[in-house]
Amino acid sequence: MKIKMPPSVNMVIDSLHAKGFEAYAVGGCVRDTILAREPDDWDITTSASPQQVKEIFDRTVDTGLEHGTVTVLAGSGAHEVTTYRIDGEYEDGRHPKEVVFTSSLAEDLRRRDFTINAMAYNNEEGLVDLFDGIRDLQRKVIRCVGNPTERFSEDALRILRALRFSAQLGFKLDPATLDAIIALAPTLEKISAERIRVELNKLLISKRPEYMEAVYEAGITKIVLPEFDELMKTPQNNPHHCYNVGEHTIAALQHVPADPILRWTMLLHDIAKPACRTTDEAGIDHFKGHAPAGEKMAKAILRRLKFDNETIRQVAALIRWHDCRMPALIRWHDCRMAPEKPVIRRILNKLGPELFEKLMIVQEADTMAKSLYQREKTLERIGKVRECVREILDNGDCFTLKMLAVSGKDLMELGVPKGPKIGECLNAALEEVMKDPAKNTKEYLTEYVKTLL
Ligand code: ATP
Ligand code: MG
Repeated sequence: MKIKMPPSVNMVIDSLHAKGFEAYAVGGCVRDTILAREPDDWDITTSASPQQVKEIFDRTVDTGLEHGTVTVLAGSGAHEVTTYRIDGEYEDGRHPKEVVFTSSLAEDLRRRDFTINAMAYNNEEGLVDLFDGIRDLQRKVIRCVGNPTERFSEDALRILRALRFSAQLGFKLDPATLDAIIALAPTLEKISAERIRVELNKLLISKRPEYMEAVYEAGITKIVLPEFDELMKTPQNNPHHCYNVGEHTIAALQHVPADPILRWTMLLHDIAKPACRTTDEAGIDHFKGHAPAGEKMAKAILRRLKFDNETIRQVAALIRWHDCRMPALIRWHDCRMAPEKPVIRRILNKLGPELFEKLMIVQEADTMAKSLYQREKTLERIGKVRECVREILDNGDCFTLKMLAVSGKDLMELGVPKGPKIGECLNAALEEVMKDPAKNTKEYLTEYVKTLL
C-alpha cells in the first residue's frame, strides 16, 4: 500500500532516517488517508529520543517532553514527533503513572487505543499493521488493541473515544469492545471534564450526531451528562410533537450544520423540559418557562465541562430565545407597517446579526424535529423574520447604542448629569428608535431627551 504524504512529513521522516533512526507517520493520519479523509494533522513516531529529535531539527517546540513529544516546524507545517513509548500503569484511569521510552515500534503501536489507530507508515517499509487495522477499516469496526477490559481500565476516556470514532466514521463497535464499554462506562467518572468535553464535542460535530443515542444506550451520558438521560425519559404528549424530548433533541441535532455552537445549542435547547413539564386535564403536556430555565441549566453544564466563556455566552443566548415566536409576525399579512420589526430589532440588539441568523437555523431545526402540525406555517414565519432582518440591516436601522444619532457626550452637553442618568437616557432613546427608526435623528432625540429630564 502506498500513501501520499505531505512534503514536510517526508522531510521529517527522511531527516530522522538519515541520522539512523526509525520514523513513521502513525495513528489518525494513516487511518484517515486510507479512508480518503483529510487528516487533521500528521503525527510521527520515532526511535529517536526527544533530545535527539531536538538536535536534528533547527526549529522545534517542547510540546510534551515528559511524554516524548517534540513539535518540529518544517516548511509551513508543524508535526508532533513522539518517541516510541510504552504507557506505564494508569493508576487512576487518567494519567499514565509513568511513560517508558522503548526502541520497539511494536510496543508503541500496542499502547494505542484502537486497531484502526495503531497503524504506521513510511515510504521505505510501507504499512505496518500488526493488529489487523486494515481489516477493521474494511469491516468498519472499532476494536480495541488487545483486551478491551484491560485497555478501558488503563484509560477510561477510551470508552468515549470509541463512540466518537464510531460517530465520525459510521463504524460499528466490535462486540467484545462494546461489552467492555457497557461494563466500564461508570469509570468515566474519574476522567477530567476537559478530556470528556473534547471527545463529546468531536462526536457532536461529526457527520452523525445522532450517535448520541448510542452514547446514552451504553450508559455513558448517565455519567458525563446525566441531564440527557432525563430527556430520554420525558414524553411530550402535545400535537406539536411526535417524539419524547430526547428523541426530538437527537432529530434536531441532525438538522443543524456541524458547527459546535449550533450542535451544543440543539443538544441542550430543551434540557429544562423534564423539570418544567406539566400535564393538563386533557392529558396534554406543557413546558412553560423551559427556555429561560434551559439557559440556566445549559450554562451550568457547559461550565462544568470547562467550556470557554464565548461558547457559553452564545449557546446560552440561543437557548434563551430558541422558543421565541416573535408573535406579532403571525399577523404579518395584515400589517402594512410591519409592526413586528420592533421586536426583531430588540432581539437583534441582544444577539447581533450573526447570532440572530444562528437563531433562525436553530428554530428551523427545532421545527423540523417536531410533528408535521403547523410545520409549514412555522417555516414560513421564520422565512419572513429573515426577510425582515435583511430589510433592517439594508436600511441601516438602529438597534445598538453605537448606532444611535446621539452620544453620551451630546447628552452631557444637553445638561444630563454625569453618571447613571446618561445610560438611562441613551437606553430610553434606543427604545424609541427601535420602535421607529425614523426617529434616529439628532433633532428628534435631543427633544426627546429633554422630555426625560
Ligand atoms: P483526530 O483525527 O481526532 O485527531 P486521532 O486518531 O489523530 O484522531 P488523537 O486524539 O489525535 O486521535 O490521537 C492520536 C493517536 O494517539 C491516536 O490515533 C491513537 O493512536 C493514540 N491515542 C490518542 N489517545 C489515546 C488514548 N487515550 N489511549 C490510547 N491511544 C491513544
Ligand atoms: Mg490527531
